[in-house]
Amino acid sequence: MATCPECDAEVDIDPADVDLGDEMSCPECGQTLVISNTDPLELDFAPDDDEDEDEDEDDDLDGDDDEDDLDDEGEDEDGADWEEE
Ligand SMILES: [Zn+2]
Repeated sequence: MATCPECDAEVDIDPADVDLGDEMSCPECGQTLVISNTDPLELDFAPDDDEDEDEDEDDDLDGDDDEDDLDDEGEDEDGADWEEE
């Protein structure tokens, strides 16, 4: 048994069925929760970082177009270093 940090509802969870970091939804308020502790069983608000991962910045790191721009500007060898890795 654990307590929802959002609505204080008692959420019946079998500790054997969950692992630290597992996410679940509160059956009372629907809040997305994460198992923050397993002994004793505790719930916390789940981090909502997932949407941020959809941003395009990763593509920039992998792309070559930005590198060419740096080279054209001139002397930035530092920019070339991270790029080669
Ligand atoms: Zn709740």
